[in-house]
Amino acid sequence: MTVFNPELVWIDGEFHSKKSVTVENGIITIIGEGDSSDKGAFLPGFVNAHSHAFQRGLRGRGELFSSGGDSFWGWREEMYSLVNELSIDQFRILCVQCFTEMRQAGITTVGEFHYFHHDTKNDFAMDMAVLEAAGEVGIRIVLLHANYSHGGFGKKLSGGQKRFDTKCLQSWWKQVDFLAEQVHGEMQRVGTVAHSVRAVDIKTIKEIAVGSMHRGMPMHIHLEEQRQEIESCIETHGVTPMALLNDSMEVSPMVTAVHCTHTAAADMEQWLSSGGNVCICPLTEANLADGICDMHRIVKQGGCVSLGSDSNARISMLEELRWMEYAQRLHREERGVCVDSTGSMARYLIDAATKNGARCLGIPAGDIAVGKLADFTIIDLEHPQLSGATPGTLGAALCCGADNSVIQQTIIEGL
Ligand SMILES: [Zn+2]
Repeated sequence: MTVFNPELVWIDGEFHSKKSVTVENGIITIIGEGDSSDKGAFLPGFVNAHSHAFQRGLRGRGELFSSGGDSFWGWREEMYSLVNELSIDQFRILCVQCFTEMRQAGITTVGEFHYFHHDTKNDFAMDMAVLEAAGEVGIRIVLLHANYSHGGFGKKLSGGQKRFDTKCLQSWWKQVDFLAEQVHGEMQRVGTVAHSVRAVDIKTIKEIAVGSMHRGMPMHIHLEEQRQEIESCIETHGVTPMALLNDSMEVSPMVTAVHCTHTAAADMEQWLSSGGNVCICPLTEANLADGICDMHRIVKQGGCVSLGSDSNARISMLEELRWMEYAQRLHREERGVCVDSTGSMARYLIDAATKNGARCLGIPAGDIAVGKLADFTIIDLEHPQLSGATPGTLGAALCCGADNSVIQQTIIEGL
């Protein structure tokens, strides 16, 4: 049993002093009176709901525009060239590097949207490498195991995509179930992914949704990040990708659509009404020139939105949550778009980086409350960037004015 007495602790959307947090077997068991004798402010550990760890290897690449402006699709070619280059050992090293940086950024759980499966043949060798890397770094992981069957609507896989190949649904499920048997306890879990409506046909997406629900696994899908995907989907199916999902599968709080940059209002309304989650990745969406998700509408409807570091070109949850709000301010010429029912930006953004991510990954984390996993991000209150902040302004000071250097430590499972 460990008892923490933080200077400040984030409970129910506010920083409190003189509270203790008791942890037993990695779970918070008591929140009681304390003496504030432990240095720092405790936040729930950040939950990064969407990552492709190997893309850490692309940092600084694909940023030379000698023949003019580029798009997501040009970047994707650069990503495929990285995929062609990587051996399993290089892949594992990138994952370790990426997960280490995540802990330094206050991230205690990662939802790894994993589609890079194969080493030399169709062997799914990379899957265990991801889990091993997470184990080495001590980060909590939900391995979101991706199905990736097509190179686009009705197209065959080509080039680097062959290392993602999961054309046989039966052997893919077999691998999901094998991985679920390999992971034990709360540190590692398995969920599912249909990569996108481009890479997985709708019949298979439906089957993945049903099988995931049956197994109690969260399911994620990339959705409507690019206008071209929407146009091709309308050409093929007569409806948008999100309408296709709304019409074809059971949407629930265990299902997360990642990006939703160009989603139509009515489609989003239906998705959120069914309990579906949204994950946005502001830094990657900016880097890839995707566009800006309409958070205003989602906030109004009370939708659950989490955050992801996605391409890992920069790993900072404080920057992700800042840009969740700042992109809206720039786009709408209005301050205070991502706010909770009381108008608090800090509460809204910190929830997105913690409890909403936990909901998307189907884990009992993201909140300093009895019964939750004991994952904490500790903020250095003596850091100059936070000078002048009071318990009442500290949340917003973190959102607006702090970087990773204020992260003093992460605690995972109480350790
Ligand atoms: Zn992604």
